[in-house]
Amino acid sequence: MYFKTIDFSKFSSIKVGSPIEVLMIEREDTLPVDRLIIGHANNLLVSNNPPPLMMLSKDFSFIELEKDILTIGCATPTGKILSFAKKNNLAGFEFVSKLPGSLGGMIAMNAGVKSYEVFNILDAVKINGIWKKREEIEYGYRFSKLGGVATEVRFKVKYGFSKELLNELINLRSNQPKTASAGSAFKNPKDDYAGRLIEAVGLKGVSKGAMQWSEVHANFLVNHGGGTFEEAKYLIDLVQEKVFKTFEVSLKEEIQVL
Ligand SMILES: Cc1cc2nc3c(=O)[nH]c(=O)nc-3n(C[C@H](O)[C@H](O)[C@H](O)COP(=O)(O)OP(=O)(O)OC[C@H]3O[C@@H](n4cnc5c(N)ncnc54)[C@H](O)[C@@H]3O)c2cc1C
Repeated sequence: MYFKTIDFSKFSSIKVGSPIEVLMIEREDTLPVDRLIIGHANNLLVSNNPPPLMMLSKDFSFIELEKDILTIGCATPTGKILSFAKKNNLAGFEFVSKLPGSLGGMIAMNAGVKSYEVFNILDAVKINGIWKKREEIEYGYRFSKLGGVATEVRFKVKYGFSKELLNELINLRSNQPKTASAGSAFKNPKDDYAGRLIEAVGLKGVSKGAMQWSEVHANFLVNHGGGTFEEAKYLIDLVQEKVFKTFEVSLKEEIQVL
């Protein structure tokens, strides 16, 4: 293991944060228990004072296909997984397109689009060195209880990559802002949409400094450049407070605030 200084104002997709020392985990290492694992910071809002962090090194970025069993390391970027699936005609990975991050982050968030979620297609996850079958892991809409660090994931292979589905899912993205963000800020409450509620309380387009509830899609907290953690947190708290006052709905953050 070794330390690497990561500037979260550059590395994170929302471009908020500062340079922080992150412990990089290599294959032979024993996993530390006193550090929080992060992936590629596409769903994070990192303060200037986060808990001690660790990240999987390139040792965990690999894709192996052997006898219809696909094993992928958790540091593998989603873009590489999509290219591999296309090239090898594998079905089920189409939704990964335009879903930025690493496989580890996807597993922890049970990332997905519409009814397509990563837990639908996986077979087992290696957590803290032990393989766990999907049935042994609790998961649901944008969460999973891993109870440790995921390092590898096994998928049962199905053939038939669908270009039609890929295009359909890419088209769904047309209502998403291109400005820096961490994806959806809040999870959708049951039978409703966080974006609708944010709009209904009049906060769509509202900004604080360089941070703003996007005018394109209200549930995206966007950074127009140089936005700070404090500005972002102010806007998150404001939405939670107003939505609760108006609708008695507690919006849960999808974005992980560290
Ligand atoms: C423009 C944009 C669009 C997006 N669209 C979608 C979407 O449609 N659907 C969707 O679900 N998400 C979406 N996201 C959010 C993001 O892409 C996903 O949550 C992604 O899976 C995050 O991966 P990451 O590697 O960046 O994880 P990070 O953001 O670094 O971490 C996310 C969480 O995963 C945990 N984690 C990371 N690695 C591991 C590991 N190895 N073991 C255990 N826990 C780990 C972290 O502790 C943290 O809690 C979007 C983001 C952006 C910027």
